[in-house]
Amino acid sequence: MRKIIIAIDGYSACGKSTTAKEVAQILGYFYVDSGAMYRAVTVYFLEHHIAITNPKEVARALKEINVSFKINPQGNTEAYLNGLNVEKQIRKMQVSEWVSQVSAIKEVRAAMVEAQRKMGKKKGIVMDGRDIGSVVFPDAELKLFLTADLLVRAFRRQRELLERDELVDLDSVIGNLRQRDEFDSKRKVSPLVKSKDAIEIDTTHITIDEQVDEVVRLATGKMVRPGR
Ligand code: C5P
Repeated sequence: MRKIIIAIDGYSACGKSTTAKEVAQILGYFYVDSGAMYRAVTVYFLEHHIAITNPKEVARALKEINVSFKINPQGNTEAYLNGLNVEKQIRKMQVSEWVSQVSAIKEVRAAMVEAQRKMGKKKGIVMDGRDIGSVVFPDAELKLFLTADLLVRAFRRQRELLERDELVDLDSVIGNLRQRDEFDSKRKVSPLVKSKDAIEIDTTHITIDEQVDEVVRLATGKMVRPGR
């Protein structure tokens, strides 16, 4: 079977990462959470007090940043910033509050997109984010666009935060998701859009297992079929 690129885009907390992770495990593919890369950059910017409105400062900072991924003993991919595991830090609410502004910076996007394309060179990759099917891999063999009701997404994200010992009230979670969706969809550079050739999956009423099964079914179809 040929190796393909699977691009999964969509709004915040639609189950993209969970689905992508499991699909990658089933297919033996490499999983890349592109949002984690923007979050890691945000952590660096916050820690080093980078003025995001100063392009020179941003460019200088980007030269100092290396984001990579390693698979932990449990088989999960974790994000590293300059060699340090930042998987926990990048999920914090403070990072969620800043990440959309950082990811809207042209220079930040250029650096991340270049790194993401390198990771996909050999194919056999599942990458999730906002612009994967539209900008990073416009020729991806399989493009998916996930959606779900805002409230369902907020409950899911609140539970995730709680599992990481961060108690955030539902209104704040809803506010953050709404804000990021709007910011990500309206920004000038690579806004969140559904590619014409992306298949939309509404995850509101389906379980993670059902989502995963559907994506694996679609992927297998592409893997055995010659051409696109
Ligand atoms: O996927 P996640 O919610 O962790 O992404 C965090 C943020 O990173 C998004 O709200 C968006 O601003 C940014 N992002 C992006 N492009 C991607 C992935 C994430 O702009 N490909």
